[in-house]
Amino acid sequence: MAKNIQALIALLVLIAGITWSVQGTRPYVDLNKEVPVNEFSTARAFNHVQALAQQPHYVGNAAHSHARNYIVDQLESLGLLIEMQEGFTLNKTGTLVRSQNILARIAGKGEGPALLLMSHYDSAMHSSPGASDAASGVATILEAIRAYRASGNVPDNDIILLFTDAEELGLNGAELFVKEHPWAADVGLALNFESRGSGGNSFMLLETNEGNKALIDLFTEAEVPYPVTNSLAYSVYKMLPNDTDLTVLREQGNINGLNFAFIDDHFDYHTATDIPENLDARTLAHQGSYLMPLLKYSASAPLSSLNSEEDVLFFDIPGLNLVTYPYSWIFPLLFISLLLLLAVIIFGILKKKLRVKPILKGFMPLLLSLMAGLAGYFFWEFALWFYPKYQEMEHGFTYNGYWYLAAIIFLALAICLYVYHRFRKPQNTHELLVAPLILWWIISALAAVYLKGAAYFVIPLMFGIVQLFILILDLKWKLILLAFLSLPAIFILMPFILSFPVALGLKMLFLTAVLVVLLFVLLWPVLGALRSNQLFGFLSFVIFIGLFLVAHFQSEFNEARPRPNSLVYVADKDRNIATWNTYDAGLDTFTAAYFEDAEAAQQEYWFGSKNGSSFSKTAPAPQIMLPAPYISVQKASNEAEGEDVYHVKIAPNREINRIALFADKAVNFKSFKANGLEAGYLQPGQSELHVHKNRWWDQLLSYYAVSKDTLRLDMTVEEGLQPEITLLEGSYDLFENPQLQVPARDEAMIPRPFVLNDAIVVKKTFVLQ
Ligand SMILES: [Zn+2]
Repeated sequence: MAKNIQALIALLVLIAGITWSVQGTRPYVDLNKEVPVNEFSTARAFNHVQALAQQPHYVGNAAHSHARNYIVDQLESLGLLIEMQEGFTLNKTGTLVRSQNILARIAGKGEGPALLLMSHYDSAMHSSPGASDAASGVATILEAIRAYRASGNVPDNDIILLFTDAEELGLNGAELFVKEHPWAADVGLALNFESRGSGGNSFMLLETNEGNKALIDLFTEAEVPYPVTNSLAYSVYKMLPNDTDLTVLREQGNINGLNFAFIDDHFDYHTATDIPENLDARTLAHQGSYLMPLLKYSASAPLSSLNSEEDVLFFDIPGLNLVTYPYSWIFPLLFISLLLLLAVIIFGILKKKLRVKPILKGFMPLLLSLMAGLAGYFFWEFALWFYPKYQEMEHGFTYNGYWYLAAIIFLALAICLYVYHRFRKPQNTHELLVAPLILWWIISALAAVYLKGAAYFVIPLMFGIVQLFILILDLKWKLILLAFLSLPAIFILMPFILSFPVALGLKMLFLTAVLVVLLFVLLWPVLGALRSNQLFGFLSFVIFIGLFLVAHFQSEFNEARPRPNSLVYVADKDRNIATWNTYDAGLDTFTAAYFEDAEAAQQEYWFGSKNGSSFSKTAPAPQIMLPAPYISVQKASNEAEGEDVYHVKIAPNREINRIALFADKAVNFKSFKANGLEAGYLQPGQSELHVHKNRWWDQLLSYYAVSKDTLRLDMTVEEGLQPEITLLEGSYDLFENPQLQVPARDEAMIPRPFVLNDAIVVKKTFVLQ
C-alpha cells in the first residue's frame, strides 16, 4: 500500500512539473480588473493595439500615417516632446525606402549612457493589420512609459523612445536611426519588442558583439517575474537569418540590446489574421511583465559597462530567476560528470547491483525508442502527402499544428512506454538507466564542442547520475526523491519539446519526438516502478490517435482558418503580353477561374520574398490600359577613362507601391547610387559579396515607392558594357482596377503572405547606352 501511495505521489510530482513548465511561464491576466495608474495594465495596452491595428499600415498607405499620428498623440498626451526623423536609406541587400521614425527623450539626472526602448510601427505589406507585429510592441512601450511616469520616477539615465519605420521592408528605420541620428551614440542598452506570431511566451534573445555576461547579469538583477530564455535558443537564433531592428543597431552601432519576441500561433505572422482579437492577452501581459522591472532597473543602473568578454550559459526555471554559469565551467562539468558516472557505475558493480551485460542490453530499448524520431519524420511527410493543401501555408506551421505537436508527443511516449515495458525485468530499472546516461553524456560532450549554448544539458545528466546512485542504494522512499530529481530535466527539455516545431516549422516534429525520448529516459527511474506501464503506453497511443483525428477535423480551411492564396497580374511591356500568375500549389474557387489554361510558370526576374517563393502557374490575361513608367537614360559626357557613367530617372505614371530592378548578376557596377545613396557591404568583414559588385543575385534594387516619387539612379560600368536592366513596377490595386473586375475573396480566404500578392505589375526592360 505504502508503495502505491509513494508511486502515486511521485507520478503527481512529474505531472505537476510538466504542467508548471508549460503554464507557469507567463502571467495570467484579467482584462476587467482595475489596475492602479502606476502599474502596467494589459487592458490599457490592448487599447493601443486596437487603435493601431484596425488595418494594414505599411509604408506609404493612409493607415500608416494614421498609426504614426496616433503614436505622436499618445506621446504628447504624456507630456513628451516628439522628434521626427525622416530620410531615405539603402540597406545592404539593396532595399531603398524613406522611413519616418518617431522619437522622444526623457532626460535623466545623471550623465551615463541612455536606455533605448524600441519597436516598429509599420506592419507587413500588404495585408497584415499587424496587431502582434508590432502594434503589441508599440503598445507595451506606450503603456509602460505611462505607468513609469505616473509613479513619479525620475530616471538617472536618459530614456529614449524610438518607434521605427520600414522594419518590415529591410530594417531601414533602424538603419536611419543608427547611421544618422545623433542620439544613437548615446545609447547604452536597447530593449526591443517584436513578434513572429500572435501568442505564447515572449522569449528574451540578446544581441551583442561581445560576450553575454554583463547583459545577462543586468537581466537577472532586474528580477523580471517570468523570464523565458536560454542560451541554447540564443545560439540557434544567432545561426538563423532572423534579423530584427536590434541586429542593425548591433552591427552598425555596436549597441547591446535585448529582444522580446513571441512566436506562437506563427500562422498569424504577416497575414490578414494578425488582428487584435488573435493577440493573446497573456502574451501582451508577458511583454509588460518584462518591460516594467527592466525599465525601473535600467533607468538607474550604470549602462556604460555592458560589454564583457565572458560568456555565460543560462536557462530559466518558471517561477525562479535565470540559472547562469560561465562558459569556463563547461569542460570541468563535463569531466566531473564523466567521473561521477563512472564512479557510480563501478560502485554499482562492486555492490553487485549492476551487471555489465544488462547494462549493454540497455542500449536496445534506448535505440528502439529513438526510432520515435523517424516516426515523427514520416508522420509529417505523410501529413503533407495526405493533405496537399498544407503546402499553401508558407509558414510551415498549419492552423491545426498544435494538435500534431501534441499527437507526436503522445506517439513518442507510447513508443517509449511500450519498448521499455518489453525490456523490463524485475529489478532492472537502474540497469536500463545506464545506457541513457551514457547517451546524455555524449550529447553534453557534443554540445560542449559544437553548440556551447546547449552545454547546460549536462545538468539533467548530473541529476540522472544521482538518480542512478539512489536506485543502487535502494532507499526506502526513493520514488518521491527520484521524481524531484527529474524536475530539472523537465524544466530544461519541455520548452524545446514544445517550441522547436513552432519556431522552425512542423518539419521539426521529429526533433520533438527525439526530445521526448531523451526526457522519458530520465523519468524512467519513476516510471519504471509503475506496474501499469503497458496500460499507459496503450492509453498514450489512443490519445495519439484521438489527437490526430482532432487535427483531421480541423484540417479544412474555413473562416477561422482561412486559406492563403494569390493572384498577380503581370503586363509584360517588352513582349506586349499580359498574364495571370499564382504562387499557390493548388487552385481554389478564387483562383480556378484564372488558370484554366495554365502552364507551369517560368522562373523569371521577380520580387524577392522571405521563403524565395516563385510562381507555380501562369495563364494568359486580357490586355488592359496601363501607363508604363517614364524612364530616361542619360550617358554622362565627361566619363573617366574606361568607364561609362549613366544617370537614370524612373517616374511611375500610376500609383505604385514597389519597384524592383534586375540585371544579370554577372554585371558588376563600379558604382551604383539610388537617390544619392550607396549600399553597404552585406556582412562587413565577413563577405566580399555586395549587392552591386561581386553580386550574389540578379536583383539590384528593391524600392518602396510613396506616391509617384521619381527614382534617381547613378551608375558606373566598364566602358562599352551596355547592361540591360529589367524593371518591375507593382501596385496593390488588383481588386480596385475597373478593367480587371477581380471579385473579392470569400471569407474563408486570405492573401498569401510573404510574397508580392494582389498586385498589378508592369515589366519593362531598358538598356544603358
Ligand atoms: Zn515585426
